[in-house]
Amino acid sequence: MPPNRRETIELARMIEERRAALAAEIRREVSRARNEPFSEVAGTVHDTGDEALADLVADIDNAEVTRDLAELRELEAARARIADGSYGVCADCGVDIPLARLRAQPAALRCLACQERREKTYRG
Ligand SMILES: [Zn+2]
Repeated sequence: MPPNRRETIELARMIEERRAALAAEIRREVSRARNEPFSEVAGTVHDTGDEALADLVADIDNAEVTRDLAELRELEAARARIADGSYGVCADCGVDIPLARLRAQPAALRCLACQERREKTYRG
């Protein structure tokens, strides 16, 4: 069973909270990397959209920032899937992703079996 309406709202809220935390973290890292006050960096971007943040970090070569931005994009993609109704369904095999997995990882795109298979393929 895909997440019901109440569960979807709960997961969407988790995604929003994680996005906000990540956006703040990215701004902090950018302000550190540029040696600029946090308020100045935060002031240049008012929304937390990934495009605005991608612009902000374009000149920053920092593994942490790159990783945070990648996670932010995954969260954006999860939001889009909630909006179009495809959220909670494995992108590879089409089974419903268990609620426990979504709660642990709200941006999960695949069921655990497909995710593990994929990671094995990439490693090999
Ligand atoms: Zn799957």
